[in-house]
Amino acid sequence: MSTLADLYREIAACQRCGLYKAATRAVPGEGPDDAKLMFIGEGPGYHEDQQGRPFVGAAGQLLETLLASIGLKRDQVYIANVVKHRPPNNRDPLPGEVAACRPWLEQQLSIIKPRIVVTLGRHSMEMFFPGKSVSKIHGTALKKDGVVYFAMYHPAAALHQQSLRQDIEADMLKIKPFLNELDQASKDAQEAPQAQQLNLF
Ligand code: URA
Repeated sequence: MSTLADLYREIAACQRCGLYKAATRAVPGEGPDDAKLMFIGEGPGYHEDQQGRPFVGAAGQLLETLLASIGLKRDQVYIANVVKHRPPNNRDPLPGEVAACRPWLEQQLSIIKPRIVVTLGRHSMEMFFPGKSVSKIHGTALKKDGVVYFAMYHPAAALHQQSLRQDIEADMLKIKPFLNELDQASKDAQEAPQAQQLNLF
């Protein structure tokens, strides 16, 4: 099975669509390979394209502020994008580009196996909630095969519209109970063998 490092090497050489031609470098994603929480944005912008890292511009600063509101630092979560190369002039990725890039995201999901997947904006939402509208389903979760999928507005949109900013802040707080559930489940799993031992006496 390949590791994230193997995957990053393959993504760096990717020519499955035309986006690589105008991009400076690929932005595969970053974070721990066993992250419980994964955020998926749309695609790299100018700063991400320059640095090869996701969410390092203004939208990234807001994402870090939102993470802090639930007691998390960015290096505790995995951050990826729907497309791994910057679309020229930050245009929306085309359906063919999203489809060409999708296997990379699927491999990231299968290596990391996050328990909570948060979609940021319309393009990543459409991958997990096809046919839905982000203005209707933001802040709601869908549980499938033990994974919680949770839709949020894109932080860049919230930077430009105050009403979305309030929504995105409130939605981020709704992730906390899912994290608490995971913490409790792992505590229970640690305590279970001790309880069994006690029963022997
Ligand atoms: N917007 C995104 O969708 N992704 C980034 O990495 C940065 C900004």
